[in-house]
Amino acid sequence: MAIHFTKKIPIPAEIKRQYPLSPALAEKKAERDASIRKVFTGEDDRFIVIIGPCSADFSESVLDYVHRLKKLQNKVGDRLILIPRIYTNKPRTTGMGYKGMLHQPDPEQKPDLTAGIIAIRKLHIQVIEETGLTAADEMLYPENYRYLDDILSYVAIGARSVEDQQHRMTVSGMDVPAGMKNPTSGDLSVMFNSVQAAQSQHNFLYRGWDVTTDGNDLAHVILRGAVNKHGNSIPNYHYEDLMLLLEMYGKRGLLNPAAIIDTNHSNSGKKHMEQIRICNEVLHSRNYNPELRDLVKGLMIESYIVGGSQKIGEGQHVYGQSITDPCLGWEDSENLVYTIYKNVRPIA
Ligand code: PEP
Ligand code: MN
Repeated sequence: MAIHFTKKIPIPAEIKRQYPLSPALAEKKAERDASIRKVFTGEDDRFIVIIGPCSADFSESVLDYVHRLKKLQNKVGDRLILIPRIYTNKPRTTGMGYKGMLHQPDPEQKPDLTAGIIAIRKLHIQVIEETGLTAADEMLYPENYRYLDDILSYVAIGARSVEDQQHRMTVSGMDVPAGMKNPTSGDLSVMFNSVQAAQSQHNFLYRGWDVTTDGNDLAHVILRGAVNKHGNSIPNYHYEDLMLLLEMYGKRGLLNPAAIIDTNHSNSGKKHMEQIRICNEVLHSRNYNPELRDLVKGLMIESYIVGGSQKIGEGQHVYGQSITDPCLGWEDSENLVYTIYKNVRPIA
């Protein structure tokens, strides 16, 4: 029983030197970040759709997916900003199973962390290079954030990490929007505490350094539904939930109040097709109440090329189908983005 130190991993500066983001791409990213920032500060009334597979499993199908998204972005860009979900490290409920491309650059092969770090950096860069879209990823391991900190345009803190001090303090040193999810228990005060911590300045120990951070004024909340003591899903996307969120934001005095609604997970009970109805309901609530229109800045949707999910390593691999949570297929996703486009009314 011990930790076996098997291999030293190159530090982020070394990996960035080997796989740099070119100045031209860095400029593209800065432009996109500036647009996204304006949505969160309320200067731009476009709506954000963070959309993509539960896990970025295979580079080929993820790239294929983001190319489709890019075509869609060109058509809906006057009202929507599409941010691809490229989730390269996956939290697991019991700690077992596929932990993402970071661990397994090929889900059907053994874990290889150095190869994984390189694979996720290359994938994110290739996406920007080929499509101009910069992505969202989950920060599951704060220590790894610097391998991608020049590349990501949106960071999510998962339901199982949101109460953790190191996550909160690391977010306080980011200059891109970071969504803090409600914990699986559904306790919204934990999520708000997390946003408060992330918006504050900190001094802590990070990657062997004594560091200070400026605070992240774009840290905000994500509602993902909860689980009760019997293990049943308790959605939190309904009108009353959003009104409660508004009330809680009102009491906290936080910067740039904003919410993203995750339509899968415990909001859909992982019934992926329900995401369509949930998106429509959220948009209805938002159109009904101008205060909610200001607060709800976007949706997070799990979507891939083929609908549903499959078990990895069991039978024939289906190209573009999720190996973690079930996702909407491409056709449904495309139609849904058009529906969102039609139902997002500009602020009068
Ligand atoms: C996810 O986004 O795939 C995920 C695991 O979310 P959560 O942390 O809400 O369970
Ligand atoms: Mn998921």
